Amino acid sequence: MSVDAASIAAQAKRVKDRLGRREVLGWVMHRVEEEVGWVMAEVIGALLEARVEEMLGRGWREGIASRELVEEGEVECRRCGARARGMFWRNGHRGRTLVTPRGEVRVPMPMLKCRCCAAAGRWEHG
Ligand SMILES: [Zn+2]
Repeated sequence: MSVDAASIAAQAKRVKDRLGRREVLGWVMHRVEEEVGWVMAEVIGALLEARVEEMLGRGWREGIASRELVEEGEVECRRCGARARGMFWRNGHRGRTLVTPRGEVRVPMPMLKCRCCAAAGRWEHG
């Protein structure tokens, strides 16, 4: 989600008609915090995607080069110990809550799956 200035302006106009000046300011600050949360989740999600892409050496839906079946990366299978970059598929995202100085942010954590044994690859510490 990204900041929708027109929608926020329309909401602000409706609120302004109903509330006093101080209440409007409170509402504005609340909305700013909400939007900052959304933007932070978006930025963190993009950074996580970039990190996984870097570790796998390929983007979403990009084919696996044969050298990647032997080239070891930073990902390791929790079950069979496989480390070759080509041994991991992307497996969607899982929502995770991160605690930040501005409060909690729900982010989409990219997940990986081992081609060999279907277990989840461990990469979060990498
Ligand atoms: Zn495995």
